[in-house]
Amino acid sequence: MFSNAEIGIDLGTANILVYTKSKGIVLNEPSVVAIDMESKNVVAVGSEAKEMVGKTPQNIVPIRPLKDGVIADYDVTAQMLKEILKKVSKVAGLSMRKPTVVVCTPSGSTSVERRAIHNAVKSYGAKEVHLIEEPVAAAIGSDLPVDEPVANVIVDIGGGTSEVGIISFGGVVSCRSVRTGGDKMDDEIIQYIRKHYNILIGERTAENVKMEIGYALIDHDELSMDIRGRDMVTGLPRTITITSTEVQDAIRESLEAILETIRTTLENCPPELSGDIVDHGVTLTGGGALLKGMQKWLADEISVPVHIAPNPLESVAIGTGRALKMINKLQKAAK
Ligand code: ADP
Ligand code: MG
Repeated sequence: MFSNAEIGIDLGTANILVYTKSKGIVLNEPSVVAIDMESKNVVAVGSEAKEMVGKTPQNIVPIRPLKDGVIADYDVTAQMLKEILKKVSKVAGLSMRKPTVVVCTPSGSTSVERRAIHNAVKSYGAKEVHLIEEPVAAAIGSDLPVDEPVANVIVDIGGGTSEVGIISFGGVVSCRSVRTGGDKMDDEIIQYIRKHYNILIGERTAENVKMEIGYALIDHDELSMDIRGRDMVTGLPRTITITSTEVQDAIRESLEAILETIRTTLENCPPELSGDIVDHGVTLTGGGALLKGMQKWLADEISVPVHIAPNPLESVAIGTGRALKMINKLQKAAK
């Protein structure tokens, strides 16, 4: 029993993670909700709902309410959060009575969206709800010394969005967000295969291709992989072999958009902080940091050191949980 449980939630566009001070990460599931369009009921959330993507009967629709980094549907987001909190209280055996909850919201979310998240968590019975900015949470969770007068650059490549933030003294000095990330890469792979092979593949196949043989724009020993899809001419299933060089070609545009965002942020950095950046470099986090060759490619392109966070898929959740003790400090810094 924890009478005053403290919970951190990373409300990501692709994955939701929940962190508690006492148990670490207690939930890590895709941000997907399956809805029965007839009754409007939530049929499943998380992994169970993701399993349904592209495979369900017509009346069950899997929705990713945060897909583009904005909250497309408040009601669905609120329902998803409630189901997630329910799961957490079961999984972690935590007393969910009056927990203090810190939620990391997608940066770029509007005040209306932030309020909707706040209310959804509050209505579940949270004693206090704090919202924290994504780059700050990512930096804390990546073990960067955020409350020192040293500039830290964090690059978080997520599913729907990528964020580049410069943090100093616990606050965001500057931040840019692009609606490009892992999802866009998956989509580019789908388009590429359709264009070059006349074959239609699903999102999950595309994501697998990216994870298995996707590379940032560096020279490498070519890999290949067999994939199955539907032939658009015959309508029949067909297997093809695709190479890592083709995948690189497919995802080039997303990668370049992310690079451009990093460049612009660095170029607009206050001059006093530039020295820190040259010395300390940039820290990569988010699932996109795991793309093969990402670190090397970015380091070559921006000519400053590039580090990868200890747990790129978990940094934000960990940072959100740890932020609790810094909240007061951060709030003061924000004023
Ligand atoms: P968000 O914070 O937006 O929920 P995440 O940080 O959880 O996003 O990252 C999810 C994205 O990272 C997905 O697009 C996923 O395909 C991608 N990803 C995860 N692992 C890898 C990997 N090993 N290689 C390339 N991309 C990956
Ligand atoms: Mg994220």
